[in-house]
Amino acid sequence: MEIAQAQEKVASLKELLNRYAHEYYVLDNPSVPDSEYDQKLEELRRLEEEYPELITSDSPTQRIGGQPLEGFQKVQHTIPMLSLGNAFNEQDLRDFARRASQGTDKALSYVCELKIDGLAISLTYENGQFVRGATRGDGTTGEDITSNLRTIKSIPLSIKEKRKIEVRGECYMPHKSFLALNKQREENGEELFANPRNAAAGSLRQLDPKIAASRNLDVFLYAIGEWEADTVESHSDRLNQLKELGFKTNPEWKKCDSIEEILEYVEYWTKERPNLPYEIDGIVIKVDDLAQQEELGFTVKSPRWAIAYKFPAEEVVTKLKDIELSVGRTGVITPTAILDPVRVAGTTVQRASLHNEDLIRAKDIRIGDTVVIKKAGDIIPEVVRVITEQRTGVEEPYHMPDHCPACGSELVRLEEEVALRCINPNCPAQLQEGLIHFVSRNAMNIDGLGEKVINQLFNEGLIHTIADIYRLERDELLQLERMGEKSVDNLLQAIEVSRENSLERLLFGLGIRFIGAKAAKTLATEFETMDNLQKATYEDLIAIDEIGDKMADSVVQYFAEEKVSDLLNELRDLNLNMKYKGPKRVEVSNDDNPFVGKTVVLTGKMEQMSRPEAKERIEALGGKVTGSVSKKTDLLVAGADAGSKYDKAVELGITIWDEEQFLKMLEG
Ligand SMILES: [Zn+2]
Repeated sequence: MEIAQAQEKVASLKELLNRYAHEYYVLDNPSVPDSEYDQKLEELRRLEEEYPELITSDSPTQRIGGQPLEGFQKVQHTIPMLSLGNAFNEQDLRDFARRASQGTDKALSYVCELKIDGLAISLTYENGQFVRGATRGDGTTGEDITSNLRTIKSIPLSIKEKRKIEVRGECYMPHKSFLALNKQREENGEELFANPRNAAAGSLRQLDPKIAASRNLDVFLYAIGEWEADTVESHSDRLNQLKELGFKTNPEWKKCDSIEEILEYVEYWTKERPNLPYEIDGIVIKVDDLAQQEELGFTVKSPRWAIAYKFPAEEVVTKLKDIELSVGRTGVITPTAILDPVRVAGTTVQRASLHNEDLIRAKDIRIGDTVVIKKAGDIIPEVVRVITEQRTGVEEPYHMPDHCPACGSELVRLEEEVALRCINPNCPAQLQEGLIHFVSRNAMNIDGLGEKVINQLFNEGLIHTIADIYRLERDELLQLERMGEKSVDNLLQAIEVSRENSLERLLFGLGIRFIGAKAAKTLATEFETMDNLQKATYEDLIAIDEIGDKMADSVVQYFAEEKVSDLLNELRDLNLNMKYKGPKRVEVSNDDNPFVGKTVVLTGKMEQMSRPEAKERIEALGGKVTGSVSKKTDLLVAGADAGSKYDKAVELGITIWDEEQFLKMLEG
């Protein structure tokens, strides 16, 4: 393909993909199946690989930028981002409406919107390109979080409006993403986020945009800050206009002509909010007419034309019947309150985590107490407090046991930890949790081995350690309840396949403390084999960017255990793969390799290496890969069936290598 032709193709693919993304992420109304989008995206990616000079910042392939940041730059908001006054009940709302109508002669209309429980953000576009995203901060100074906001697919990277425009709204984490994130953090032994707002804030504060990208954040836009072309006269028109400009707006807003209508809207959403797929913490009411807004003006703190109604946290009262203990994969003992079933924020709640003994002490929670329950962030049930006035004297203060409820070993409190732990490596509860972790999706990913089957196999004595999974036999599995021939064969097949998994899955599956899926991947790429990793010293480990001292310590301690090396030898004998199979990481070794500072063009089909991999390796050695041959080109690597680029290179007298020669130079 000639460059002009490629340029045209890239442009049309970008336009198509941006339209698909808008339909999918903004309008929630896709016109093509996901596979169609993926296919076009791949096509674009391939073209951009071949012609890197055609990559622009608004390409859908460029949402995740390159390097993690060192820190966040400050951003001044030209027009301050206001905070609103609050209303907590009907009377506050009536007072607001009365004051507003006294401040203007004409009749008032209002717009009611859901108050999304997230973080206020500002997006600036120049020449139709998304150039800067910022937090609200203190209202006048925020932080530049552009690279994180770029990863949010409902934020357009380019728009048709070419004049400078600043758009404002709320960034939030949908419930689904929040629950999945916390589940994953629990598996990794990381601290959980208390609610979606904290999770969204934590994600936007990540210096590495890859992390933000993995968090599945979303936005609703509802205001415009700075825009010279602004001609809109009401807030309701503003919301329609934002939508026309290509921004995602929340569809649930309503125009209300009286305080009664406002109260109706508030009442409706107070009931309906548990059914929304995201968190709201109230209702925002604004005077619709912008001229009237100006007329009403501001108090010292906030505008007189808008108010935020805050929902009361729904709290209910129930009885705490018992406290149960569970033993996690890492031996942490977690107490859970067993409650008389009660309805809170849309679901029936009968358990609430009490986290640890300190919390039970602090709140003086006793078995038999009458307690107040709420859902933190309206999702996770939590005991708020005890109603001590309702104690009858039979309530028992709770003492955490000295011994593990599963195996009876003495519990310990490790330094600086609030949690009690069972440190018996043979504790059956921990073993089961460890097995469940081992087969889980981000680890060995063995289909058909869910929590239930693991518990069944464990209780039947068929598996005790992870090595046992690879010794399961068809006959013994067939004797289990609810296991037919077909499911047994599928299961054995899935186990078989998992033997070939790349090293990082096994590493993560082993459940080394502080080593989550991402750290496991890093270790696997760096050390390539289990042998190398077993021999690694603390210094070797800490030398790696993404490995901190807690992780390094934990890895060294783990591999120093004799039981661990026994287990790994067992797994080796059972033919489990112990090597990393992904793309290699190549260090920039020294300056005397043939690629340093060279401009290289790749063309034709290579047998032993994909083009992206070749590009990666050349770049790792300090070379630059471009898409077309010119006088500046130092080297052409030509695979089979090379076409016009080859001819041009010959014409210009540029050095040409075939694949074999290229590979030899890479090695040497
Ligand atoms: Zn135990």
